[in-house]
Amino acid sequence: MTDLTTPRDLELEQEIDSVLAQLTLEEKVLLLSGRDFWSTVPIERVGLRSMVLSDGPSGVRGPEWDERSPSLNLPSASALSAAFDPAMAHRYGAVAACEARRKGVDVVLGPTVNLHRSPLGGRHFEAFSEDPVLTGELAVAYVNGLQDNGVGATPKHYVANDSETDRFTVDVRVSDRSLRELYLLAFEKAVVESRAWLVMSAYNSINGVTATENALLETPLNSEWGFDGVVVSDWTAVRSLASASASQDLAMPGPDGPWGAALVDAVERGDIDVAHVDRKVRRLLRLAQRVGALGEHAPAPLVHVEDGLAFARSAAAEGTVLLENNGELPWNASALRRVAVLGNNADVVRTQGGGSATVLPEHTVSPLEGLRDALPGVEVVYSVGAVNQVGLAGIPRERMTNPVTGAAGARVSFRDGDGVEIFHEDRLATELVWFGGTAPIAEAREIEVSFSYLPTQDERIDIGFAATGHGRFWIDGELVIDEVVVPDGEDLGAAFLSPATRTTSVDFVAGTPVAIRFVYDSPARDDALAGALALNVGTRPTVVDEDQLIAEAAEAARDADVALVVVGTNARVESEGFDRDDLALPGRQDDLVRAVAAVNPRTVVLVNSGSPVLLPWRHDVAAVLVGWFGGQEFGHAVADVLLGLAEPGGRLPTTWPAADADVPVLDTVPVDGELVYDEGIHIGYRAWLRSPVAPAYWFGHGLGYTTIELESVSAPATAVAGETIDVTVDVVNRGDRDGKQVVLVFAERPDSAVERAVRWLVGFAPVRAAAGEKASVDISVPTRLLATWDEGWRYEPGSYTLRVGTTAVELPFEAAVELTEAQA
Ligand code: BGC
Repeated sequence: MTDLTTPRDLELEQEIDSVLAQLTLEEKVLLLSGRDFWSTVPIERVGLRSMVLSDGPSGVRGPEWDERSPSLNLPSASALSAAFDPAMAHRYGAVAACEARRKGVDVVLGPTVNLHRSPLGGRHFEAFSEDPVLTGELAVAYVNGLQDNGVGATPKHYVANDSETDRFTVDVRVSDRSLRELYLLAFEKAVVESRAWLVMSAYNSINGVTATENALLETPLNSEWGFDGVVVSDWTAVRSLASASASQDLAMPGPDGPWGAALVDAVERGDIDVAHVDRKVRRLLRLAQRVGALGEHAPAPLVHVEDGLAFARSAAAEGTVLLENNGELPWNASALRRVAVLGNNADVVRTQGGGSATVLPEHTVSPLEGLRDALPGVEVVYSVGAVNQVGLAGIPRERMTNPVTGAAGARVSFRDGDGVEIFHEDRLATELVWFGGTAPIAEAREIEVSFSYLPTQDERIDIGFAATGHGRFWIDGELVIDEVVVPDGEDLGAAFLSPATRTTSVDFVAGTPVAIRFVYDSPARDDALAGALALNVGTRPTVVDEDQLIAEAAEAARDADVALVVVGTNARVESEGFDRDDLALPGRQDDLVRAVAAVNPRTVVLVNSGSPVLLPWRHDVAAVLVGWFGGQEFGHAVADVLLGLAEPGGRLPTTWPAADADVPVLDTVPVDGELVYDEGIHIGYRAWLRSPVAPAYWFGHGLGYTTIELESVSAPATAVAGETIDVTVDVVNRGDRDGKQVVLVFAERPDSAVERAVRWLVGFAPVRAAAGEKASVDISVPTRLLATWDEGWRYEPGSYTLRVGTTAVELPFEAAVELTEAQA
C-alpha cells in the first residue's frame, strides 16, 4: 500500500513499472533469491546493480568476515538501550550508516527488535529490552539514523524469535493480543513511523506456520501498516515453494534455494500467480531506488557524520549502569597510587556477543588497558583471578610470524583433492570465518593454517583448534592432535560459529618460537551454507589450581588503594544459536569477587555481560557497574566512568533477578516442538509486578553520581482516544555535579474490564540537569498505548493513572487522566 501522493512518488512507481515490463519471468525470479551470501542479483541490462546486505547491527561487518577489513565495533544493543535515549540511538544508526557506506553496504541487517522475554535468551545482548515501548522508540530512531543516511534498515526477526533453542523449528504459540501489544509493537513503529525499507522474517513458526509463509507478513505488516519494502528471509529461512505465495519477498542467501527454477515452473504451470512474483520484484526495485542501486538513482548524501571511535566511547559510558555505590565512585585519580585490576574479562574483554552480529574491530580496549591509559603515573597491577574463558582465544597477531612472508600473521593455504594449492591468504588473526568473500571454500579439500608462535613468557597453556570435522595439529613437526570433531547440533550459530574445541597442554618457553600447523579436511558439501566455514586456532589458559589463582588476585588487591574486579561472560556463553542454561557467572568468578572484597573494602565490580547475570555478592562490595558488551572503546569508557570524567548514564532496560528460580518467565525450551507464551502480556517487569518475590534490580534502576529528583509532574486531566497525552516533568539536580536522569511514565488501570498489566511503560525520556539546576522534560504518551487488542484496538474509556518516576516501582508522582472516546 504505497501512498502515491507526490508527482515524485508517481515518477518512481512509473520507473518500477517500466523496469518490471522489461524483465523476463526467469530474470524476475532470479532477483528473488540472493546472488550469494550477502548480495542480490544485478541485471545490468535494466540498470540494476547488486545490493549488499550486511550484519553487525552493532557495527557493520561488510560482505567479508575478515580482520583485514576491520569494522567499528559499537556497544551492543542492551548497552544502547540502557541509555534510554532515542537521540543517541539515532546517532548510533547514523554511525552504522557511515560504516555501511564505507564498506559498500546498502542494507544493514538490524536492528534486532525481538524482546527480552527470558533472560536466558542467547541473543539478549543483541536486542534492546523486555519492554516493547522502549524497544520500539529505539528502533524508530535507529532506523531513521540509518535511512536518513541512505542505508536500508532491517528490523528483525519478524516475529516472536525471542530465544534460540531449536530456533529453526520451534513453533511459538502466542496470543494475538500478546503479539500486537508486545512482540509486534517495535516492528509496527519502525514501519509506520520510520518507513523501514526492509523487515527480516524469522526462522521460527508462529502459531503453527513458519514465519516465511505466515499470514502475519501480510496482516498487519502490509495491509495495516502500509509496509512497502522488502521482507528478506533470515538466512535459509525460506524452505518451501509455498512461501512464494506469501508476502515473503527475498530469499537469502542464494543462488540456490527453494524458489529458482521451481518457481518459474510453478508460474508457468499456473500454480502460482505471476502477480506474486511481480509484487516482490516491485519491492526489490523500490529498495534499489532507495539505496541508489537502480538507474540514475544515487545513494542519498550522508547527512550525519561523526567520529565513530569517539561515539563508541561516549555511547558505552552513556549505557553503563551504576547498580550500587556506597560513596566509592567516582574515584579521584590524583589520590590513587596503586590499583589492582582483576578478572579474566579485564584483560580478555568481551566487547560484543557471539554469532552473526560479530564484527571484527581493529583493536579493542580492555578495562585494563583503559585504566592504564587513564592513570599514567599510577601502578596498575593485574591478576587473572578466575579463568572463565570457554573455547579458544585467537593468537594475537604480534605473536605470530607467517612462515612464507616472514611478516606478522598466519598463512592459510587452500588445496584441492590432489593436494595442489589453489589459493592462499595471509591473515592477521586465527579465528577464521569464511562466510562470503573469495576464498574457494567449496572447492578446497584441505585447508592449512600455519605460523610460528612466539611465547612471551614461560607458560603452560592449552593450544589447539576449533572446527567441525577432521583436524590435525602439529607442534614443531610433531602430530599432537588428530581428531574428527562431531557438531552438537545443526544450528548455524552454535555449530558453525562456535565449533567444538580440541587442545593439548604445552609448556612454552619465553622467546623460543614454535612452528604451528593445523590441517583441516574440508568435506564436499551441498547444503545451503556450503562455502561457509569457521576454523579457529588458539589458546586458553591451562587451569592448574583455581584456588591459587583466586589467592593471587586477592594478594594483588590487598595492598592496592582500590580494586576493580571485572566479571563477565563471553561469546560461548552469550551467542546466537543457543540459550544460556542459567544466569550464574561462569567459573569461579563469584568466589573471586568475595575473596577480593574480603581483603579490600574499596572493591568495585564491573560486569561485562550483555544480559542479566546473578550478583550474589552485590551488597558486599563498594560499587557495582554494568558495562555490558561495550564495544571496542569499552575500556576507555570504563575508565571515564570510574574516574568521573563521564556520568554512568545507563538504567536497566530489563529487570535483573537475584536468582534463576525467581524469574517469572524463564524457560526457553520448547516442549514437543512448541514454546508456549502462556504468560500472555506479562513479561519482564510486568511479570515481576505480579510475582511474590522482588528482583535484584528493577527495570529502570541505575544510580548517577549526582541526585536528580523529580519535582513535579503535570498532565492534562482528559484525553481523547487516538490522540496523545503531553506530560511535563520537572526535575532538580540536588548535587554538585552535572548529571542525567531517566524519567519513566507508566500507566495503570486498576478497575479495568479487561485483563491488564499491573502497570506498563507508556513513555520515557532522558533528562540532563547541571549541578544545582532545574530542568524539565516533555514526554508525549500516545493513547494507543492505553488500548488493548481484541481483533482491533479497543479503547476503554474511563480513568487511567499515569505514574511517573525512575523505575518500575519508584514512582513518586501520579496524575489521573480521563480517557474519552473519539467523536465520530
Ligand atoms: C541470523 C540473522 C542474520 C543472518 C545473516 C542468521 O543466522 O539469525 O540475524 O542476519 O543469519 O547472518
